[in-house]
Amino acid sequence: MYLCVNFMADCSKNISENVFSSLLEMLLSGESPGREGWRLLLGAPDSGQDRRLRSLAAEVARGRWGRGVWIRGLVEISSFCHNNCYYCGLRRSNRQASRYRLSVEEILECCRKGDRLGFSTFVFQGGEDDVQDDEWMEGMVHAVRAEFPRHAITLSVGERGEEAYRRFRKAGADRYLLRHETRNDGHYAHLHPSGMSGLHRRECLYTLKDLGYQVGAGMMIGTPGQTVDCLLDDIAFLEELKPEMIGMGPFIPAAGTPFANFPAGSVAMTLRMIALMRLRFPDALIPATTALATLDDGGRGAGILSGANVVMPNLSPSPVREKYGIYDRKACRGCEAAEGIHRLEQDLRRIGYHISYGRGDAMSHAAK
Ligand code: SAH
Repeated sequence: MYLCVNFMADCSKNISENVFSSLLEMLLSGESPGREGWRLLLGAPDSGQDRRLRSLAAEVARGRWGRGVWIRGLVEISSFCHNNCYYCGLRRSNRQASRYRLSVEEILECCRKGDRLGFSTFVFQGGEDDVQDDEWMEGMVHAVRAEFPRHAITLSVGERGEEAYRRFRKAGADRYLLRHETRNDGHYAHLHPSGMSGLHRRECLYTLKDLGYQVGAGMMIGTPGQTVDCLLDDIAFLEELKPEMIGMGPFIPAAGTPFANFPAGSVAMTLRMIALMRLRFPDALIPATTALATLDDGGRGAGILSGANVVMPNLSPSPVREKYGIYDRKACRGCEAAEGIHRLEQDLRRIGYHISYGRGDAMSHAAK
């Protein structure tokens, strides 16, 4: 039922300049183009329109955020995971995966290094590791908060109970990244084993919001079985949730997973989605993701020139970076490494941007 659809070819009927311009007008005036409008914008632009879309999105981002790009130091705290998502290299059943977990002291070392390099936000991401349970996580956040009272602490450690989220927040966590992955229930079931539920994941996002976290939702682009309608469902969900952050990157196959031999997602479609989400959510924090930089050397710059305003260099201890193998050949050196920050600065300068070293809170939380 869920065929792998190449939607660039799928919806290649071009739209007239008039229709295209009026859809852009709607977006610029803060209105949703509605499902059929989104369908046209997603599938129909010709290459000139696509360029216009991206440069307009970058202009909107500059209007709100200037030419600064926020940096987040990403610490990958564990590659153990009890989940079995079909796309992810960390899945429980992947015998080819290398496993490690960081201790609180190792994590604090990463933070100290990040602080010296100028990072004001730490993102702790990991598989759902039974050893790094709720209590451990609370203690870890507490320890980081005690040593770094002014830094932003972001967690990306999956689905947990409401009480756990409350405890993490009380211990000092400010933000939480939990991509919803896909809003389409049939597609969700195509990407996950039974027992995992998209509904539960979305409920977690609402709980996190209620607890005062700045939340990040998002999805991969080009996962097996994803159709234009899946993306339209995703957009409708984002319009409903209004997350502070929207993470989108191309799907990249991971060895040892059921999707190992599927093609990677489209860079062009990812850039188009970044541009469209920037136009719809001018205040959102949208990263030019590592997955984008992995598939295309120029991916990070292209993401920023399509409206992204965040990059997340890798701050994990060097020996474990390759072991956090959510997908193959993950970029984690050069500009994707925290210590490559000077190269990143040069790269950004080349396209007329620079690093913003502040916390980069969502606009709605900036004064808090
Ligand atoms: N356990 C955490 C972190 C998961 S990894 C959680 O559940 O949120 C972070 C994100 O990487 C995932 O949400 C997913 O969108 C993305 N990801 C996983 N496998 C991927 C792959 N093969 N290609 C591209 N992105 C992937």
